Amino acid sequence: MKDPQIQRMIHDIEREVQYTRKMIGTNALSPGVMTAMSNTPRNEFVPKSYLDAAFDNGPLPIGHGQTISQPYIVALMTDMLELEADDVILEIGTGSGYQTAILSQLCKKVYTIEYVPALADAASARLKRLGYNNIEAMTGNGYEGWPEHAPYDGIIVTAAASHIPRPLVEQLKPGGRLVIPVGRPHLYQELTLVEKDENGEIHMKHVLGVAFVPLQGERNAALR
Ligand code: SAH
Repeated sequence: MKDPQIQRMIHDIEREVQYTRKMIGTNALSPGVMTAMSNTPRNEFVPKSYLDAAFDNGPLPIGHGQTISQPYIVALMTDMLELEADDVILEIGTGSGYQTAILSQLCKKVYTIEYVPALADAASARLKRLGYNNIEAMTGNGYEGWPEHAPYDGIIVTAAASHIPRPLVEQLKPGGRLVIPVGRPHLYQELTLVEKDENGEIHMKHVLGVAFVPLQGERNAALR
């Protein structure tokens, strides 16, 4: 963590965690998550025209009407998953691959799905070039999950859903956690933690108001 720009980003994340501590229920995110944030070159994941802002604590456009998420939100969502070293994780919305890279440093394997083929191809090439090698990516509709590799210890959705996709809940292990923004696309969503307990029962908690780009290809099978 020698780069002053990354140090500034880390400081900004820590400050926003402080501001939001009542909502998120903690004063500090786990050291492992913050180390992964420090060790990941966000400049490699943003378009060249936004390099100056690569370490700002805000979202940035990545083309195709999509965005790379705000660092604080990436850190918070990762923290909410409570990852363990041998966890297998499913990510919906690869986008730039930045969140994927963070996850890959904290668990055994990351499966990631992206809807827009050009973004999926670019992210796969980027993650490979940067040496993240415990990631398997596919292009498709993440609403349906990736049943071949289920069940997952954790599932993270980085696009706004109008409801919690039933296939994702089904693909979660007992004891597993799903982190997903739920609400009105383009407007306001609640970052939601869905926990499946050891008996397979579902518990939900709203954590924070967020604004994500919409999840495409939803079915109407609401689970609320
Ligand atoms: N985690 C990404 C955020 C990307 S924005 C990053 O940090 O860069 C959300 C992404 O979700 C977009 O790339 C969008 O194309 C993708 N997306 C939207 N609906 C999807 C779906 N049904 N399945 C998979 N990806 C989807």
